[in-house]
Amino acid sequence: MTGIDERQEQVVIVGAGPVGLFLAAELRLAGVGVTVVERRAERPSITKGVAMHARTLELLAMRGIAGAFLDGGVRLPGWHFGFLERRVDFTGLDSPYPFVLSFPQDRTEAILEDRALALGARIVRGEQAVGLEQGDDDTVRVRTSRTEYRAAWVVGADGAGSAIRQLAGIAFPGTEAAIYSYVGDVVADRPPAPGFNVVNDRGAMMVAAMPGGLHRIAGYDPVRQQAGRGALTLDELRETSARIAGADFGLHDPKWMTQFDSATRIASAFRSGRVLLAGDAAHTHFPAGGVGLNLGLQDAMNLGWKLAAVAQGRAGESLLDTYEAERKPWAEDVARHTMAQTALITATTAEGLALRKLLSDLMGALPEMNRALARRLSAVDVAYPPADPAAHPLTGARVPAAEMPDGRPVTVTPAGTTAIVRPDGYVWWATDDPSPDLAAAWEGLGVRF
Ligand SMILES: Cc1cc2nc3c(=O)[nH]c(=O)nc-3n(C[C@H](O)[C@H](O)[C@H](O)COP(=O)(O)OP(=O)(O)OC[C@H]3O[C@@H](n4cnc5c(N)ncnc54)[C@H](O)[C@@H]3O)c2cc1C
Repeated sequence: MTGIDERQEQVVIVGAGPVGLFLAAELRLAGVGVTVVERRAERPSITKGVAMHARTLELLAMRGIAGAFLDGGVRLPGWHFGFLERRVDFTGLDSPYPFVLSFPQDRTEAILEDRALALGARIVRGEQAVGLEQGDDDTVRVRTSRTEYRAAWVVGADGAGSAIRQLAGIAFPGTEAAIYSYVGDVVADRPPAPGFNVVNDRGAMMVAAMPGGLHRIAGYDPVRQQAGRGALTLDELRETSARIAGADFGLHDPKWMTQFDSATRIASAFRSGRVLLAGDAAHTHFPAGGVGLNLGLQDAMNLGWKLAAVAQGRAGESLLDTYEAERKPWAEDVARHTMAQTALITATTAEGLALRKLLSDLMGALPEMNRALARRLSAVDVAYPPADPAAHPLTGARVPAAEMPDGRPVTVTPAGTTAIVRPDGYVWWATDDPSPDLAAAWEGLGVRF
């Protein structure tokens, strides 16, 4: 029989993946009561997302937690775009973190879970959400096999197959799987030189260093397309390496191996009434460029302070609509980029290889092209320009560094301008007036802190 949780929670998050865990901590910073409901009994030891990009590191630094990642990760100066021979160079990025940090997702989740718990979030494991009901009483009910949870707001952070998205009736349009890709995080006795990636008429492969002596071997194998999603054996990965790269790299002791697909979908809405979506529940795509986890953490940072303010009656509900307005265009942009990379990674015909060479050569000849791709992959080009043409030109611009460990906005004065920085690191309001009326500015923002 289903029991009823006695607590009427302010927010229930379904899914204790990285996005749900980070969002829980963001809400706790403001003192919002949070329960996270997770179907898995144990935290998984899956290394899945490894690439952490500059903007994510900037955001983690704003909360004072980047050190745990930087200390344990491997800094890579370059990263691939569609496995093009010439790699994207991040060293010129205008960020305190001009590199890609290789850091396995299981360790990311461990750090984020410990932090969410330390900040007072309740995490309930081993319960799968199977029902959702939005009543007329400003209460949403989430039913699991054991318990019914009640909350003022529910966030589906339950991954690409999101039950919450489906139960809320939110469509997930996009493309079906066009290709299947292999990945293995393994020990390589004879790894190739750093920055290895290749596409030829036999398939595609990239190799990236990971912490703990592992290497990620990933790519596209035309011969393995019938295998579809799911299990991959070490012998199969060795055979694929030997055939595509001409060497099996001495692979052994796999930590995680699988086949995944290129389905690309974006939720038609990120909010339906008192239900919101974040992370893979809101968008899924081929993991080319290693951006999905980054995108999701940035969703959580955008949503956290807004939902906290609305849940605590410090702002009107319309603030929540800015979450989809700001984040969905960037999810769409990532979807286009990853689809373009899918086309490049699978361009194994003579014509495809010619196109790849042309683009690779252009990247070498045009530094601006490299710069644009580095800024895009790292998400340092994300900005939220306001609709109001009278707003200060800095409004919505990214702030690379600001200390906001408690998640509260700060006032900064770069080069004579006074700016209020939102809790997610973007300029909220700015003026060149040397004696600004900050009290009036705060009043105009419509959110109390
Ligand atoms: C091969 C591969 C490589 C990748 N590499 C990168 C990379 O280098 N960089 C990067 O940024 N991203 C990468 N990604 C993407 C990244 O792993 C995802 O974007 C990320 O896991 C999304 O986090 P999430 O919290 O939104 O969802 P998930 O990680 O999917 O977590 C969802 C959670 O919800 C739980 N859940 C699901 N349904 C229910 C339910 N009904 N009730 C309760 N709980 C439920 C699940 O058990 C899970 O714990 C990669 C993905 C793949 C497949």
